Amino acid sequence: DIQPIRRALISVSDKTGLIEFAAALNEAGIELVSTGGTARAIKEAGLPVKDVSDLTGFPEMMDGRVKTLHPMVHGGLLAVRDNEDHKSSMEVHGIARIDLLAVNLYPFEETVAKGADYETCVENIDIGGPAMIRAAAKNHDYVTVLVDGADYAQVIAEITEEGGTTMKTRRALAHKAYARTAAYDAAISNWFADELAVEAPTYRAIGGTLKQSLRYGENPHQKASFYVTGENRPGVATAEQVQGKELSYNNINDTDAAFECVAEFNPEETAAVAIIKHANPCGVAMDGSLAEAYRKALKCDPVSAFGGIIALNRTLDGETAEEIAKIFTEVIIAPDADEEARKIIGAKKNLRLLVTGGLPDPRAPGLFVKTVAGGFLAQTRDNGVIDDLDLKVVTKRKPGAQELADLKFAFRICKHVKSNAIIYAKNGATVGIGAGQMSRVDSARIAARKSEDAAREAGETEALTKGSVVASDAFFPFADGLLSAAEAGATAVIQPGGSMRDEEVIAAADERDLAMVMTGMRHFRH
Ligand code: 5GP
Repeated sequence: DIQPIRRALISVSDKTGLIEFAAALNEAGIELVSTGGTARAIKEAGLPVKDVSDLTGFPEMMDGRVKTLHPMVHGGLLAVRDNEDHKSSMEVHGIARIDLLAVNLYPFEETVAKGADYETCVENIDIGGPAMIRAAAKNHDYVTVLVDGADYAQVIAEITEEGGTTMKTRRALAHKAYARTAAYDAAISNWFADELAVEAPTYRAIGGTLKQSLRYGENPHQKASFYVTGENRPGVATAEQVQGKELSYNNINDTDAAFECVAEFNPEETAAVAIIKHANPCGVAMDGSLAEAYRKALKCDPVSAFGGIIALNRTLDGETAEEIAKIFTEVIIAPDADEEARKIIGAKKNLRLLVTGGLPDPRAPGLFVKTVAGGFLAQTRDNGVIDDLDLKVVTKRKPGAQELADLKFAFRICKHVKSNAIIYAKNGATVGIGAGQMSRVDSARIAARKSEDAAREAGETEALTKGSVVASDAFFPFADGLLSAAEAGATAVIQPGGSMRDEEVIAAADERDLAMVMTGMRHFRH
């Protein structure tokens, strides 16, 4: 099943590794054909190459829109080598076979990411490239197709050692080729969705480019990989890893949860820190100082914070880095890190530091995907922001200014805690978090108990929930959850409302002189 290679067509926008590749093909006695810019680069390196326009008998035209879209090219790629009818067509029309195709596409995704204007983005939609890739990949019985420079070396080695490529290689390359054209078209479609402000997920195509093969998935027996979609959203997928061990599947998942949570806080208004374990916050705080915000966040649940993931909404500074370095942490993610911070973190070789260059917009709809057996669910990201909601005070007592600030803070965090979520907060910091319970009362009790533990850890006599406020991600179906929060010492409550028993819950709040605010928006997260 070895297919010898006599002629190769190379047409690449990204010319990395091109000359070495072309030289090696030439060395193996393979004739080279190329499009304009690629042919020029090969000629400049002193290698023989034929222009594709000599092959087609047409000049490259219409700003390069039409270069290779011609039967001389597509016939050479698609002809079934031992089919009599195909062979006679080749003879009649003088079509010569093309045995290897190396193409990388116009940089559409990069052009969009750079913020180019509409016309420039459209002009960067490659037409001839994907057409050739799809043709060559279809005819992989005979044709070798390369869409990634990372594969040049392996193919050269095979040609040198075997005198051609194996079927196994050609099939693997065809698989990769269609993954690339699928991701490319997905990126184009999604760019249109953004331009036309089409709400995801209606017209969102799911496609990505492999960023990294992961050592394993959520557990060591699961296989996993990490894809980038080209969505223009600062975060873990596009971050620069300054240092530390390779990210694992769980690291990436938790780091994303951490950064999305901390992005709820406008860095121009306050510094904020979120510490995450198993995709749930175990402490979130805001403060004028980043280091103080970290100390406040850590105090919420220092036991769970061990081995956690930390997200910051401002540039990591030396003082905060110093604080973080005191306990074992897996990952830090921040918009940036200053020189002093990089030095301090640098002393911890394994600690991963990621810088993103910015914060994602919590109001952007985006796409959220979850698989189910035989299908997948797609929805817009939960982009509800408390500042935009019409808050209604439903109790006799109105929350005081500090209570109201803490209520809003707590509800903002609620969105990032697995349901049922109950959050106690005080002075801009979570003091007790109950996550992922099947009963809301259990979440309230767990949050209160964790807060008692935290108080003990901090050497304080009073539970941290005393004089706190409490947020619930969904309405209290009965008064019991609210009563449990009151028992723990909460003085004010924020929740969506909308239960059949709202009256009963409001009456229970009034009885205990609690202030209660309804948001009209639920923040389930599963
Ligand atoms: P070059 O730098 O060689 O002038 O152009 C290489 C690029 O042109 C590659 O990215 C390839 O995918 C693209 N390309 C090749 N043929 C065609 C075509 O007929 N139409 C368009 N729009 N792009 C093409």
